[in-house]
Amino acid sequence: MRMAGSSVGVVGGGVLGMTVALRLAQQGHQVTLLESAPSIGGLASPEAIGDATWDRFYHVMLLSDRHLVGLLDELGLAQNAHWRDTRTGFYGDGRFHEMSSSLDFARFPLLTLAEKARLAATILHASRVRNPMPLEQEPVERWLRRWSGDRVFERMWLPLLRSKLGENYRIASAAFLWAIIARLYAARRSGLKRELFGHVDGGYATILAALAGRLDSAGVTTRAGARVQQVRRVDRQPVIELAGGETCAFDRVVLTVPCPTVARICPGLSQAEHDRLNAVVYQGIICGSFLLSRPLGGYYVTNIVDEGFPFTGVIEMTSLVDPATFGGRTLVYLPRYLAQNAPGWAQDDAWHRAQFLAGLQRMYPDLREEHVVAANVSRARDVLAVTTLDYSSRCLPPLRTSLPGVYVVNSAQIAHGTLNVNETLALAERQAAALAAEWSGEALAAA
Ligand SMILES: Cc1cc2nc3c(=O)[nH]c(=O)nc-3n(C[C@H](O)[C@H](O)[C@H](O)COP(=O)(O)OP(=O)(O)OC[C@H]3O[C@@H](n4cnc5c(N)ncnc54)[C@H](O)[C@@H]3O)c2cc1C
Repeated sequence: MRMAGSSVGVVGGGVLGMTVALRLAQQGHQVTLLESAPSIGGLASPEAIGDATWDRFYHVMLLSDRHLVGLLDELGLAQNAHWRDTRTGFYGDGRFHEMSSSLDFARFPLLTLAEKARLAATILHASRVRNPMPLEQEPVERWLRRWSGDRVFERMWLPLLRSKLGENYRIASAAFLWAIIARLYAARRSGLKRELFGHVDGGYATILAALAGRLDSAGVTTRAGARVQQVRRVDRQPVIELAGGETCAFDRVVLTVPCPTVARICPGLSQAEHDRLNAVVYQGIICGSFLLSRPLGGYYVTNIVDEGFPFTGVIEMTSLVDPATFGGRTLVYLPRYLAQNAPGWAQDDAWHRAQFLAGLQRMYPDLREEHVVAANVSRARDVLAVTTLDYSSRCLPPLRTSLPGVYVVNSAQIAHGTLNVNETLALAERQAAALAAEWSGEALAAA
């Protein structure tokens, strides 16, 4: 449906803001996308590593990622996507264990037969839950101890929870785990025979460039390097003030930035709105990426169950992407998910680099400093909104704010999903449709 266009400012040029901007422009609005960084893309942006360029943070697509696969089609990139089976590993008791098939699970030595049966029953039970709302009321630890028993919790679930949530696992609800298991079962649910992992030639840079081209053709004005300092109402219109003092008035403003940023840049929101935004607990990440002159174990993900590692998993990107892309070398990511008050934020990149390499050498004792061709350390503070108890009723930010014409569409609205581009696109489509319905209703009422 095309409607008489209003002017809309979309704040935040990540995948979410880009998609919302595109859909609103396609509905006939005059859209301006404002991004504080020098280029758009947010968490999906690329970075240089040595003489190569790839995603700043590791990204994989799943064949069952319906919205993402749809976007690739829309952008004419389907033929640039490559899908494959990858291997998964576990590192426990100082050794690697393959966990890529049911046979691997049967042979997995870190749990007894009875414990494996309880683990499998827990996963099966969670996969059958259709309504996750009741799970929001139970702490994930209590739920898992009840279903899997104490030893399976401590041996398997705890390291896995810590790998995504750090110590914030203590405040997460069972709905968090439900979302992860639902993603594992997405292939089965969508009728695919098996799940495959994929990437696009050139990584997310290719998708972002194609999306930026679409924004251009749809008439979206994209302004990178435009940090929004404040959003307020002046003469019954939302006005955005940029760092540097420039102001721009719009009919409507859509904020796709994290909740703490919404709270900061919208001082005119009510106290109740500020309290709700500030109730969202974010998990951050410090992520090492290493380009190595030698391969590692060949697992896309290695989950770590042993204690004392400075990262929470190992992602060997070149088990998915042809190493020829990187001149035959190995690209590996070492994520360290951190709570906001974790001491790791105060350490500099050199400190993290040294820690990451030492941790990798503990797993691969024959890995030497000379094998490191290049290394980066990337940080992002407000990455993942933790699914805390009663998240939907207590924290989830609503689309509308008390400032007329100012809306929030951000990833904290993904209550029952894991943070990934597919969920981000689903959210963008859903909220753009809700805005279209609301604004066309307003236009009719005004006519
Ligand atoms: C380590 C890691 C691994 C991941 N792995 C995967 C994966 O394997 N598969 C997958 O599908 N997804 C993955 N994701 C998730 C994926 O990257 C995100 O879901 C997606 O990029 C989120 O997009 P977004 O637009 O919501 O947020 P963001 O990308 O954070 O975008 C928000 C934007 O707002 C801008 N901004 C902030 N403040 C202001 C301001 N005041 N004014 C203007 N602009 C502002 C920021 O610069 C940023 O560009 C991963 C993410 C991380 C961090």
